Amino acid sequence: MKKKKYKVKWSRIFLVFLFLGITVYFLIQTFHNDSNRDILLKVGYSQEEVTELRKKLSNIEIEKLAEQSYLSYLTDLLKEEEYHSENLFSYIDYISQIDADYSLKDVVYFVNRKISYPYSQKLVDVIHQDYFILSRLDRYMHYHSDDAKEIVTNVNSDLDYEFYTNIQKTDTSKDTLLIVNKYYQLEKDYHYGDLVVMDSQYDNKSGSRLSSVAYEAFKKLVDDAEKEGYHIRNNSAYRSYATQNSLYQNYKNANGLEWADKWSARPGHSEHQTGLALDVGEKEHTNLNDFVNSKEFIWMKDHAHLYGFILRYPEGKEYLTGYGYEPWHYRYVGIEVATYIYEHQITFEEYYAYFIKES
Ligand SMILES: [Zn+2]
Repeated sequence: MKKKKYKVKWSRIFLVFLFLGITVYFLIQTFHNDSNRDILLKVGYSQEEVTELRKKLSNIEIEKLAEQSYLSYLTDLLKEEEYHSENLFSYIDYISQIDADYSLKDVVYFVNRKISYPYSQKLVDVIHQDYFILSRLDRYMHYHSDDAKEIVTNVNSDLDYEFYTNIQKTDTSKDTLLIVNKYYQLEKDYHYGDLVVMDSQYDNKSGSRLSSVAYEAFKKLVDDAEKEGYHIRNNSAYRSYATQNSLYQNYKNANGLEWADKWSARPGHSEHQTGLALDVGEKEHTNLNDFVNSKEFIWMKDHAHLYGFILRYPEGKEYLTGYGYEPWHYRYVGIEVATYIYEHQITFEEYYAYFIKES
C-alpha cells in the first residue's frame, strides 16, 4: 500500500513539471517570434517580407540578418529553385561584390558550385552556352576571346592547347565513340573489333580491311545508294600504324611539315587505324579530290548519318578538327550519334567533349 502511494505522488510531480516546461517553452517561442518580427521591421523589411522571411528562415539566420542592412532581393532569393539554405550568407556575400546588373539564378548557380570567379558578363555568357562543361570553366576563363560561343566551342575542341601537345592515350573503352585526333593517340597495335576484308563490289582497291561493325553499315549504305543510282566505293579503309607512319613521312618529305599535318595524321593519330573510318569515292574513281564534284558526294552528305557515318572533317571547321576539308573521309559512330552530329552541325570533337568524355 505504501509503495502505491509513493508512485502516485511522483507521477503527479512529474506531470506538474512537464506542464511548466511546455508553458515556458511556448512563452520563449512567442517572445522570440515577436522579437524576430520587430528586428526585421526595424531593419526595413515590409510586413509582407517579414512574413515570408519568418516562414523560410531559422531564428539564428534572422538574428544574423538583423545585423546587416536591408536586402531588397532577399525574398526573391529564397524563392530561387536551386536555393540552398546553408549557402544563404555566401549568396549575400557574393552579391555584395557585384557592381552590375545580375540575375539571382546565376548567383545561386555560381555559389552552389563554389565558382570563385567574380561576377562578369564573360562568366555569365559562358555558363549559358549550349555545350558548357563545368569542369572546363578555368580553361574557358583563361581562353583569349570575348565571344562566349567561340570560347566554349574552341576549348571543348582542346584548341587552348597547340596541336600535338598535351597528348593523351585514347580511351578505347568508349567503344565506337572513341576519339582519335591531334590530342588523342592510339596504341601502336590498336584497332577496333575484328577487321574484315571488303568485298570487291564495295572497294575500288583490293583487299581493303574495315572493322566489321563499320563494314556492315557501309555495305548497307552502298547497296541503298546503288538502288538510287549512286555508286559509292571505298578508296582507303584500315591503315596500320606502320602504314600511316610511312604515308605521313612521305607527305612530309614531299610537301613539308605543315602540309603533311593538314592533310595527313601522324602515326597513332589516324582514324584509319581504328578500322572505323574510310575514304570514299565514286566507282572506279580513286582520286579523292574528284569526289566533291560527284553526285555521289551530294547523296553521301545527306544520307551517311542514316547509316551511322559522319563527315569527319567538314568545311568551315578546319580550325577545330585540325584538318583540311575532306569531303571523302567518313567515320562510323552509329546512327544515333551520327544523326545528332548531322542535325546540330557540330564536330566529333565537340560531341565527344560534351557527351562522352566525362561520362
Ligand atoms: Zn581519311
